Amino acid sequence: MTDTYRHKGMRRRLVETLRSKGIEDKRVLAAVEKIPRHFFLDKAFEEHAYEDKAFPIGNKQTISQPYTVAFQTQLLAIKKREKVLEIGTGSGYQAVILGALGARVYTVERQEDLFHKTKKLIRFFQMSNIRCYLRDGNNGLPEFAPFDKIIVTAGAAEIPEALRMQLKIGGIMVIPVGKKVQKMLRITRISENEWTEEERGAFRFVPFLSGINKRAGRG
Ligand code: SAH
Repeated sequence: MTDTYRHKGMRRRLVETLRSKGIEDKRVLAAVEKIPRHFFLDKAFEEHAYEDKAFPIGNKQTISQPYTVAFQTQLLAIKKREKVLEIGTGSGYQAVILGALGARVYTVERQEDLFHKTKKLIRFFQMSNIRCYLRDGNNGLPEFAPFDKIIVTAGAAEIPEALRMQLKIGGIMVIPVGKKVQKMLRITRISENEWTEEERGAFRFVPFLSGINKRAGRG
């Protein structure tokens, strides 16, 4: 995998596009400028890696649109060393963006194929602050809870109770909720049993599913 001046130039233009669409957080924009998104796409889509679009990554899943990644990351207001739970590792791009911001990232994927493929790719970035788990995100990661921040990158019909409970008091969760179209919710846990909710626009994600999807051809 190589990152050329041409790729870097395309990333700078992508950052300009994100800025024009309202992304203001300088650290988020710097992370997008730094991380080669073409590493996360199949060769066939490499030419399009710096368009502000979602693309298929196999197993009926997609790498989120850069605007969506930047928007969700900005809503999370990540500080260095914070513990962040991501549900939906997918291509790994969002996890690596969070890693570049200095978060301690725990990312969960339910599809075994994607989990293995992406874990390998993430290793390539040598970010020791990112850990990958093959799990059903409905349960969160109880053994590492509570988290400062939680990000869900698949469209959920409702907010999984386990995720609410695994948020620190004062912590923030960003989750798209809804069936065909999702509203982006930013949830803050304000006490042991109180959460506030803000709505931040409409998005389209692949569905948040239940259970683990084992590797094809394996018993
Ligand atoms: N963050 C990803 C977006 C991937 S698309 C990226 O940057 O590329 C959403 C991912 O969520 C898919 O890979 C899908 O398999 C996964 N997913 C859906 N429901 C899940 C669940 N219950 N637990 C874990 N992962 C889930």
